[in-house]
Amino acid sequence: MCGIFGYLGSERDVSGLIHSGLRDLEYRGYDSWGIAVARENVIHIAKDIGKLQKYAPNLGSGTLALGHTRWATTGGVTQENAHPHTDSEQRIALVHNGIVENAEELREELIEDGFHFLSETDTEVIVALIEREMRRGAETLMRAARRAFLRLEGLNAIAAIDSLRHEMVLIRDGSPLVLGQKDGAYYAASDLGALAGQVERIVHLRDGEIASISLDHLSIFEI
Ligand code: GLU
Repeated sequence: MCGIFGYLGSERDVSGLIHSGLRDLEYRGYDSWGIAVARENVIHIAKDIGKLQKYAPNLGSGTLALGHTRWATTGGVTQENAHPHTDSEQRIALVHNGIVENAEELREELIEDGFHFLSETDTEVIVALIEREMRRGAETLMRAARRAFLRLEGLNAIAAIDSLRHEMVLIRDGSPLVLGQKDGAYYAASDLGALAGQVERIVHLRDGEIASISLDHLSIFEI
């Protein structure tokens, strides 16, 4: 089981915060890891195979970020396949837990539509679907991610961030995702243990729910 950790708030050493969240999820086992920080409308990423280093990677400051510890199921254990994955403009970053059973079919459809892939993962297919929905006019990450997610077969959970609109989206369908809140900041994790003692309020997403989070609002809908 992979680990997901996300943050949206006012802490600036966000890479350190995500690194420490991923450390709390290490016991679940993983073969590679990655951290994405949103800054100035662009996603900055560090990822690698093997264990997390002792210190957080230097990705500069930011207040919106995501991290992942991967347990490869689709595609080998390589740096390219490690999450987060991004859209072609490095605006959106996404991490994923689960297996997209119709990934190959969707990949072919997207290649026909002009998309290129840098990894072998089913996860990158999800980001490309989101990018296509945005090109087709979805105004927010929440709308694009919802439409993309409805195309997926299998049990999946995703967390995605939009560096342009400063939004985080979580969707759960089969794999756990928990949302925590403290002092106006939001934390997302695949495991309650990573949030325990850190937050004041916890929301367990239910299967089939989507959460859209920004600094001034939190909405949860059925997908
Ligand atoms: N299927 C995805 C991959 O292989 C997610 C794996 C996971 O849940 O860690 O990258």
